Amino acid sequence: MAQRILEPGEIETLAAHSIPRVRIPDRTRLFAKRAERLRTLAATSPIGDYLRLFAVVADAQHAAVADFPAELPGAAQIEMAQTHRMPPIAAASWPRAPQWRATLQAICAAAARQPHLPAPIVQITAGLRDAAADELEAQADILLGARDGGIDAAAAPFLMAALQVNWLALASRFAANEVKPIDVPGLCPLCGSLPVSSIVATQTPYQGYRYLHCALCACEWHMVRVQCSQCGAAGKDIAYRSLASATAAGDAAIAAAVRAETCEHCHSYRKILYQEKDPGVEPVADDLASIALDLLLAEAGYARASGNPLLWQPAQG
Ligand code: FE
Ligand code: FE
Repeated sequence: MAQRILEPGEIETLAAHSIPRVRIPDRTRLFAKRAERLRTLAATSPIGDYLRLFAVVADAQHAAVADFPAELPGAAQIEMAQTHRMPPIAAASWPRAPQWRATLQAICAAAARQPHLPAPIVQITAGLRDAAADELEAQADILLGARDGGIDAAAAPFLMAALQVNWLALASRFAANEVKPIDVPGLCPLCGSLPVSSIVATQTPYQGYRYLHCALCACEWHMVRVQCSQCGAAGKDIAYRSLASATAAGDAAIAAAVRAETCEHCHSYRKILYQEKDPGVEPVADDLASIALDLLLAEAGYARASGNPLLWQPAQG
């Protein structure tokens, strides 16, 4: 039987109706799954000790998010944001619960309990536990883009971990159909942050679709495949690299599950994770563990489109 070929406009209309646009994170599982994945990846990663430390951090995040307060915008505020195609719980402007600083304390305490902790980490966590509230709020404002200022790169991952708890508590309470598109497709439709990486899902009804994963609130939003998540270029500008394609070493199957999607238009990349190659892939953990791929891409002249929240890297030009 002959099939009618869809015109481009028809394809978009059809896609808009059939693809789940947003995946709301599950606060009862997200950090626990991340902790487990970090421990798994630590066994073979060149930064295994760092991954094991942040597995402990993720355990503390999991414990903290369970009873973290969530002051959500009211219906009128959500509607107002949607009218202006703005994120309803914008990282830079939605008020943080003061409890995020108690979460930071708990995270630092959990890290500090680890045996054989390197001296710099002992210092950082002790410094954060002693820091005044206004100092911490100022650092949080800078990290979330609310104001300019210097970032303490070593402390940033711990601060981001506590802020992730605050935003996951909020994001996880939205319904997917409450989340509307915003003006910039490369930013999280809930909090306006940049994605850490993207993931191609396998489970119904998301099978085969690619989602960008928010570095802050863990919301995931759909973006077509073979398109640059930074500048929107598509087609011949887009290519894929993995460690397996560059070296003979390592577990080829695992390496192929994590690839860098490079763009010749803006010369940047983000990683893309394939659940069909490895069902365990997790957007923050796998991005962090595959730091060797970042080194490969840096050598090849590509800039990371945005950082990993658990490893502060200076901005690249
Ligand atoms: Fe977000
Ligand atoms: Fe691009």
